[in-house]
Amino acid sequence: MAEETENFAEKFSKKIKNVLIDPNIFTYKFVCSCQGECCNFGVYTDLKEYYNILLIKDKVKQLFDETQSKKVKKWFEPPEEDEDFESGVAVGTEVIKGKCTFLDRDGLCTLQKLALIEGEHKWKYKPLYCILFPFTVYEGVLTIDDEHIDRLDSCNVNPNLTIFEAVSEELKYFFGEDGFAELEKYREEYLNEYQLGVEENAAK
Ligand code: SF4
Ligand code: SF4
Repeated sequence: MAEETENFAEKFSKKIKNVLIDPNIFTYKFVCSCQGECCNFGVYTDLKEYYNILLIKDKVKQLFDETQSKKVKKWFEPPEEDEDFESGVAVGTEVIKGKCTFLDRDGLCTLQKLALIEGEHKWKYKPLYCILFPFTVYEGVLTIDDEHIDRLDSCNVNPNLTIFEAVSEELKYFFGEDGFAELEKYREEYLNEYQLGVEENAAK
C-alpha cells in the first residue's frame, strides 16, 4: 500500500466495479524480472478459493515434487476474518521449505501448472491475490503492494515502466475489458492533471 493510514480508503474517489483506485498505479515504476520470489511467503486465499483447491487436491498432489508436502493438512493456515476477501474469510497458504506450499522446486506454481496441463486459462485455480501481485486490494482500494515488494531482494530491480504498463494483463483480468477501458480513461485524466501540476510547480 503506497501510504497505509487509518482511513486509507477515504483518500480515493474513483471507483470501478465497486473497487476504489489508487492513482499511484499510474506513476509508480516497476519491472517483473525474477523467478518468483514473491511466492516464498505464501498467499492469503479467499475461503471459496480454499475450498476450490481442496476439490482438486488429488490432481495437485500428483504434480508435486520432493520439495512439496502431499499432506493436505499442512497446506493451509487456520482461516481468519478479513473484509478484503469476498467471503469475509481469508485462508493463508503455508510456507514449506522456505516457499509457498504450491511452489515447486523450479519456481513454478503447481496450481497454474495444472490449469495449463488441462488446457484451461492459466489462472483458473490461482488465488486472486497471487494474480494481482504486485497490486493488491486493501480496504477496498486497488493499490500497490509496496510492503511486499520492498521486502523482496530481487523484485523490482531497475524498473523502467510504470506498474500500470508493466502488469496490465492482471488488471484486464481483474476488471474485465470494460472495466479496464474505464481504468485507461481514468489514467489519461489523472496524468493530464498530474502533468499540469508539475508544470505549475515548475513555473512558481
Ligand atoms: S512480482 Fe517481483 S518477486 Fe514476483 S516474479 Fe515479479 S519481480 Fe519476482
Ligand atoms: S499459490 Fe502459486 S502463485 Fe500463489 S503464492 Fe503459492 S505458488 Fe505462488
